[in-house]
Amino acid sequence: MPKKLTTEQFVAKAREIHGDKYDYSKVVYTKMHDYITITCSKHGDFLQKAYSHLNGRGCSKCAKEESRSKLIFGVAHNDCDGDSHTNAYIHWRNMLARCFDEKYKKESPTYTNCLCCKEWLVFSNFKRWYESFNYPDYHLDKDILVKNNKVYSPETCCLVPPEINTLFTKRQNDRGKQPIGVCYIKRSGKYSATIHKLRNVHLGFFDTPEEAFQAYKSAKEIYVKELATQYFQEGKITQRVYQALMEYQVDITD
Ligand SMILES: [Zn+2]
Repeated sequence: MPKKLTTEQFVAKAREIHGDKYDYSKVVYTKMHDYITITCSKHGDFLQKAYSHLNGRGCSKCAKEESRSKLIFGVAHNDCDGDSHTNAYIHWRNMLARCFDEKYKKESPTYTNCLCCKEWLVFSNFKRWYESFNYPDYHLDKDILVKNNKVYSPETCCLVPPEINTLFTKRQNDRGKQPIGVCYIKRSGKYSATIHKLRNVHLGFFDTPEEAFQAYKSAKEIYVKELATQYFQEGKITQRVYQALMEYQVDITD
C-alpha cells in the first residue's frame, strides 16, 4: 500500500497539476476522499475532495466562467470545430443574433420576442436539421409554417428559396398606419393597393383602406398559390411548405 501523503506532499502534487493558480495555506490533508479547503485568488475558499483536486478539478466558479466565455451570445454552443464558414453555420449564427443579440434586436424590432428552442442552441443539432434538406442557398423561415411564430425550432421552421421568403417581408416603415399593401394618396384622397411581384403591380384606387386591403389580399393570396404550385412542381419546396403556402391568408393585422 502506498504511504499516506503528508500535507506538504499533497500540496506539492497539487502544484504539479494546477501550478500557482491556488493558495493551499488552509489545506490540512488527511485522506484522498476527505475534503480540503483550497483558496482561489479570484473566488476565495472552496471545499473539494483531495483526490478530485489531483484529478484536475479546481474552482467551479472559474470553470463556469470559462465555459460561458466560449458560448455564443452567452447561450449557444458550437460543438463542431472548423465549421464556421459553412452555410449551416452562417444561418445558425444569424438566427442566434435575431434571438439573443440585443443590438440586432434593437435595429430590427420584428425580432423583439424571438426565441430559439433548446435543441438548436447546440450547433450540431441545427446542422443535422439543415443538412437533411439539400437546399444550399435557401433562407431560414419561421413564419410560413406557423404564422406569427416567434420560436426557431425544427417543428416551426423551414428552408425556402429567397424569393419565397421575401414574399412575406412586411414593409412596415413604407406604409405608415395603412394595412399591408395599402397606401393613402393625399392628392386624390384615395387608397391605392399594390402587390409586389417581380415588379410592383398596381391594383387600383379605392375609397377606403378596407377596400384597398381586400384587393391586395385577393391578389396576394392568388400570387402566393401560383408561386407555391410552380415551386412545388419544380421540386424546390417541400410538401409541408407547399401546403402552408396554399393555405396562406393575408390578415389586415399583418
Ligand atoms: Zn475561481
